[in-house]
Amino acid sequence: FNLPALVNEPFISYGPKSAEREHLVQALAEMKEQMPFEVHPNVNGQDVAGTLDQSQQTPFNHSKMLAKYSHASPELVRQAIDGALNAKKQWSRTSLHDRAAIFHRAAALIRGPYRYRMMAATIIGQGKNAYQADIDCTAESIDFLTIFPTLAEGLYKNQPPFNAPGVWNRSEIRPLDGFVYAIAPFNFTALAVNLVLAPLIVGNVVVWKPSPGAVYSSWLFNHIMIEAGLPAGVVQFLPGDAKEVTAEVLKSPDFSSLHFTGSTAVFRSLSSAIYSKMEFWKSYPRLVGETGGKNFHLIHPSADLKNAVLKSVRAAFEYQGQKCSALSRIYIPASLADDFKRLLVKETEALTMGERFTDFIGPVISRTAFDRIANYIQEAKYAPETSLLAGGTVDDSTGYYIRPTIIETSDPRSRFMTEEVFGPFLCLYVYQDNDFGEKLFNLIDTSTQYALSGAVFAKDRQAIIEATDQLRFSAGNFYINDQCTGAMPGHQPFGGSRASGTNDKAGSAGLLSRFVSSRTIKEGF
Ligand code: GLU
Repeated sequence: FNLPALVNEPFISYGPKSAEREHLVQALAEMKEQMPFEVHPNVNGQDVAGTLDQSQQTPFNHSKMLAKYSHASPELVRQAIDGALNAKKQWSRTSLHDRAAIFHRAAALIRGPYRYRMMAATIIGQGKNAYQADIDCTAESIDFLTIFPTLAEGLYKNQPPFNAPGVWNRSEIRPLDGFVYAIAPFNFTALAVNLVLAPLIVGNVVVWKPSPGAVYSSWLFNHIMIEAGLPAGVVQFLPGDAKEVTAEVLKSPDFSSLHFTGSTAVFRSLSSAIYSKMEFWKSYPRLVGETGGKNFHLIHPSADLKNAVLKSVRAAFEYQGQKCSALSRIYIPASLADDFKRLLVKETEALTMGERFTDFIGPVISRTAFDRIANYIQEAKYAPETSLLAGGTVDDSTGYYIRPTIIETSDPRSRFMTEEVFGPFLCLYVYQDNDFGEKLFNLIDTSTQYALSGAVFAKDRQAIIEATDQLRFSAGNFYINDQCTGAMPGHQPFGGSRASGTNDKAGSAGLLSRFVSSRTIKEGF
């Protein structure tokens, strides 16, 4: 058994006059010409036409629609579950070789004929620039497609080592006894890919509710999987009303796992609903969730100031802060404060904002997100303990634009240092240099319920050692002298604990193990 060697998909620069840029310009122009596209649920390998009463706008311009889509009715959800359970008979017996071949074929399709369409769908539909779209829908999606088969291979090799004379012990890795329900967020096309593919590679079938903010790129990805040879019914694509689809899914006793990325509040409420009727399920459902964050950078007085500032700007404002991992609280020592703030504000104010795919800042995803973040910024600007350092302005005349905003607070436990915002908002607190140590670690650790990502910036080795040790449970992804975003599949498995999730790390072998249920076989001779 010898799967293709792993190489992360390289990023493309889309630099001036490059062929890649030409292709992207052309794909964007074509997509703008052809939109709105029509998207329907895809059940048992067929698009099921319905009333096109929902739409995915482009966040760059709320008068333009990328796609119109129909939603899955409760009846269709029931059919999808039946179809999936039927398809599972064959899929769960399909060899890993054959599943892997479909994954690698899909990776080749994204690398080849679909690269620029996926890019354009993610840029226009989800409000990304070319760089953010490239790391997301092409590189990270391809990485998940190619890494999962290799991780699954490792899982299947894991046999019990002991055999008494005359006995052969074996461990059979089976999929879960039912179907997996995947609920995906808008912010990464690749996250939907992770949510669907992890259960799939180990033989499960998946009922997938895509995000309304990413319907078109998700639909394209589903079609790429079908073109790559995924049998009908193995993945059921069900756009629709989240509550309605979920209510129907949770009426099936064969529901065996929730694979979720999204808000802490929704994951908690779904978990409660599931836990409240444990006697109903055929098996104890596996709940796997990656949820919110209030991620930090801790700057030590010995830090390389320029590196810390530039990484902080990127971590806070890339993709308008709409990453679970985005930086949103930063602790700066008094001795560096003036220089740090000056450079931070200068770099932030220099970020270009607009519709060009080279602009650093684009729009936030929707009217709802815009209103929520704009209100939050208003409150932060006028709170008694804060001062505004940068940004603070918003403009929704064409698209949903919010200038990257930096607030300084004198209260390290203020809500602006503790609540998730999921937008271009950074709160800064200046600490006394002498407080670096237990007092500060305790503050960072206890002031929020989250524990997703964090970073320490220092040249002093002792400071790095202490922070790494004392902040053990404060972040599932901890970075030293690097930004707290941008985990790379296979390099930095991603996820957090506490209110940030079940910490089953996207793109990891541990994640796959949540979707299998092994059988021990003993044979005597
Ligand atoms: N994996 C992404 C990162 O490390 C974040 C994904 C998310 O937003 O959930 O930045």
